[in-house]
Amino acid sequence: MEEKPKQVAQWIIHSKRVVVFSGAGLSTESGIPDFRSPGGIWDRYNPEDFYFQNFLVSEASREKYWQMATEMYEPMKKAQPNLAHLAIAEMERFGKLDCVITQNIDGLHFKAGNSEEKVIQLHGTAMTVSCLNCGKRYDRDEIQERLRKGVKAPYCDDCGGPLKPATISFGQSMPERETEEAYHRSSLSDLFIVIGSSLVVQPAASMPLVAKRNGAKLVIINRDPTPYDNMADIVIHDQAGPIMASILEKVKEELEI
Ligand SMILES: [Zn+2]
Repeated sequence: MEEKPKQVAQWIIHSKRVVVFSGAGLSTESGIPDFRSPGGIWDRYNPEDFYFQNFLVSEASREKYWQMATEMYEPMKKAQPNLAHLAIAEMERFGKLDCVITQNIDGLHFKAGNSEEKVIQLHGTAMTVSCLNCGKRYDRDEIQERLRKGVKAPYCDDCGGPLKPATISFGQSMPERETEEAYHRSSLSDLFIVIGSSLVVQPAASMPLVAKRNGAKLVIINRDPTPYDNMADIVIHDQAGPIMASILEKVKEELEI
């Protein structure tokens, strides 16, 4: 078991463009529930209420959406970065990180210390709210405070348009700039490390493929098997936190940091 982290550490040291791809597994290790798992929040709500089209046209849908979004936000706000987040932030400090492409909306990469320009948030962020009409952005806590005081569906101060967390909902298209950038960085990477993603949600799941096709080494660290395990150079089925901590320990030993 020691051999794999050691090999990954070597590759990190000798690679020029290391791209990390993070998914829900990383968030669950910080205590954020996986909303898609059985017994999760989706069992208590009707997913149809959360389609973007319905949000746009129905006040009732917007109210239900915000009710659920509030329930999801509470554990996210409290969550702290785990050992894997911290290891990825350290990689940036050592100059060993090209970027993190994340499917997560919880902002934990930033809490861990990664900078804005290193993190590509494919599914947006729950830490910000934006007006669907004029694009004005609000701090999430400020809007949650309005809800706490009894507002059921908040509207923009400037234009009266509906406010929504800046996350990508069902039926809402992926953010163009982020998606393009993520594909571009994937294609240029020489080491692509998947952390805590089961690689089933498209189009994100095809990014390791793009990296691999362009000659990158592919490492997958995930508790459960993924559809791409057979094409990976190293697969580790384990908790990401302790594994990433041990990899970084070896990187530091080697670089004498
Ligand atoms: Zn507005």
